[in-house]
Amino acid sequence: MDIDTLRWARWRDCRWAAARIQAALDDDPDGRLDLWDLERLVSHLAQCRRCRSMTADYQRLAASLDRIAARSGPDPAVVRRLQHVAVVHPHEETP
Ligand SMILES: [Zn+2]
Repeated sequence: MDIDTLRWARWRDCRWAAARIQAALDDDPDGRLDLWDLERLVSHLAQCRRCRSMTADYQRLAASLDRIAARSGPDPAVVRRLQHVAVVHPHEETP
């Protein structure tokens, strides 16, 4: 196999791996891996430093987004609307 063929195969494998990694981190139900694909992905990550680095970057990003979401309070517009309802209609039950 010549070097261009090897590069093409590696690029194709990296694209395949990137799609699976993103789907897994997005918790995409359509992106769930069967055992064969999981073994293929683990094998690729063991050999490919670029994809391992990308996976670590995605994991750090996801963790940051989770921390930001956990710190954020409720939408101020929703709070104002609920306060308005509580003042204007204090005795009405919500369904
Ligand atoms: Zn790769």
